[in-house]
Amino acid sequence: MKFLLPTACIACQGFQQSTICEKCLNLLKQSQVNRCHVCASPTINNQYCSTCQIKPPHFDSTLCLDYYGGCLTDAMHRYKYQYQVALAHGFIDAWISIYGKEFYESQSIDVVLPIPLSYKKLHQRGFNQSWELCKRFSKKLRIKRHGTVLMRSHLEENQALANKTERLMRLSNVFEIDRSSINWIQGKNIALVDDVMTTGATLNTIAQVLKDFGAQSVHNWVILRTPLKKYAECCPS
Ligand SMILES: [Zn+2]
Ligand SMILES: [Zn+2]
Repeated sequence: MKFLLPTACIACQGFQQSTICEKCLNLLKQSQVNRCHVCASPTINNQYCSTCQIKPPHFDSTLCLDYYGGCLTDAMHRYKYQYQVALAHGFIDAWISIYGKEFYESQSIDVVLPIPLSYKKLHQRGFNQSWELCKRFSKKLRIKRHGTVLMRSHLEENQALANKTERLMRLSNVFEIDRSSINWIQGKNIALVDDVMTTGATLNTIAQVLKDFGAQSVHNWVILRTPLKKYAECCPS
């Protein structure tokens, strides 16, 4: 039952042949305007938001399909918490419809990498939602993928209990590179794939690690972007 294929639009659930309907695709297209090129936060007619102008993050750009709270929110919940893994197809189909192939060719992406899950979370969920997206990006866009070059160390504690400074300090110790696969990182243009981007702190930390190990550029490919603080309470990643 976990892997049932969707027979309806992933967003509005209207019955149809493709994974997302024209009406919902148009909604996604409308949400592409006025976003910061670097972090995908809302901006007012600017290419860069004020935060990225003052203190640019380590990653180079962020592309996201929609905001959290938009038409794909329910699909994301079903994907992550009801284990409807096949929805990953719909997310990637929508992504490619919105951005076309030009966007990733312009970024000259060499490899797509997932955000690694802790063993505990992987065990609980049974799949890494980021890796499932990576696999489909890789297949449909013919880009290489690597599931283990980026690893999580075992130093994590309960993030919800830590304050912001403690969280950031811990984050910097959480991610490691498998040194035997360093050639997948050095000099490469990398796309980091994530389901939901909240503050961007995790992606920023990973981008820093990747650049410390010689990555040329790091781009976030995210399904949903949320500036809502509430998200962390109702929908922990
Ligand atoms: Zn629809
Ligand atoms: Zn920004």
